[in-house]
Amino acid sequence: MLVANKSDGTSLSLGERWEKSDLIEIRSREKFHCPECGEEVAMKLGSKKIWHFSHLAGGSCQYEYDRESEYHLSGKLQLFNWLKKQGIQAELEHFDQQMKQKPDIAFKLQNQKYAIEFQCSVIPEEIFVKRTETYLHYGVIPIWIAAETLVKRKKHNIVSMNNFLYLFIRQTRNSWNIPAFCPMLGQFINLNGTIPITSKKTITNMVVNSLHQYSVENLLSPIDTPFPILKIWLAENQKLKSRYVTSPGAWQNPFLKELYRNHLSILTLPSEIGLPVRSSPYIETPSLIWQTFLYIDVFRHYEKGDIILYAKIRDAFNRRVRRKEIKLRTLPVARQKDHWYALAEYVFLLTKVSYLERINSGKVRVLRKIIIPGTIDEQINSEANFFNKYRNEIIQSIFH
Ligand SMILES: [Zn+2]
Repeated sequence: MLVANKSDGTSLSLGERWEKSDLIEIRSREKFHCPECGEEVAMKLGSKKIWHFSHLAGGSCQYEYDRESEYHLSGKLQLFNWLKKQGIQAELEHFDQQMKQKPDIAFKLQNQKYAIEFQCSVIPEEIFVKRTETYLHYGVIPIWIAAETLVKRKKHNIVSMNNFLYLFIRQTRNSWNIPAFCPMLGQFINLNGTIPITSKKTITNMVVNSLHQYSVENLLSPIDTPFPILKIWLAENQKLKSRYVTSPGAWQNPFLKELYRNHLSILTLPSEIGLPVRSSPYIETPSLIWQTFLYIDVFRHYEKGDIILYAKIRDAFNRRVRRKEIKLRTLPVARQKDHWYALAEYVFLLTKVSYLERINSGKVRVLRKIIIPGTIDEQINSEANFFNKYRNEIIQSIFH
């Protein structure tokens, strides 16, 4: 930690400018305490690591989940100085007595309070959620910034994201964003337009900015820049299908078995299945799979002209969730919405691609038959045509 309490109750921040000799002098006559647990901490003024306080050996601070690394200390300090340079009144490691929480950095902008948590290690989901909810409860907007080391870059526009990283995701004006920071290079890495393909593999537009190119406004409301998301989506969805078929355990994969029982093949699914929708991060199960379930459970039982009750679609989805065949995600920072939005967006998209017609909020009518391609080539062609024809509709379903 960078801030500790002195015996008179005031605090000393090593985030300020200090002469080493002055600190040595203060250290010789003061005892320092952890603002959270009250235990004694030692001031470390070594030459290798950033000056900091650390709990004495044997101490057991229940608040310190992070064994603080140099990486973390450095990141926190850089972000703090970056805010101060912009004339923002920021507080380093201020322990809030009411919230019983200590954000890395707290600041206020246009009467709104913010808390920055620069997270370098994986912490339990319950703690992440609890901290987030406490901030929100007290009217503070949390900004969880992931250490760049938590972002596993696969290739251009593809990252591997585990459920922990999904906890950081927040809504922007038009899509999604995860802010990350690398203290080694002093760079912000923004994962914009984040849409999952599988439970881990995620399409994203990674935008890198150095600290001095970036303002607090950029951090608070990042701007989406266009990237060829549909082209990537199509290619990755095809890859997902062939990986399913060629994986060693394919013959006993329950999803493939269910397709087989229903006389379907993953390689010749119709183009209406496996579409990207904006709220898909709320669902851990790949779009290809949960949308296939809806086809099997609902859509294929209806003919042209039939009416489908929206409640039926919801029930089918819910049944799969209860059986854990569709897994959901907790997105504590995103708030407001949930997986039901993803479902509604999908049904809405199906009206946009003229498969369904909306009658009212509870009913849709089937406009045409869904055609199952006869061969793999046919599937690839019809899907490419479908994405070409409904390009704008699909883009709009991702970026409202
Ligand atoms: Zn402590």
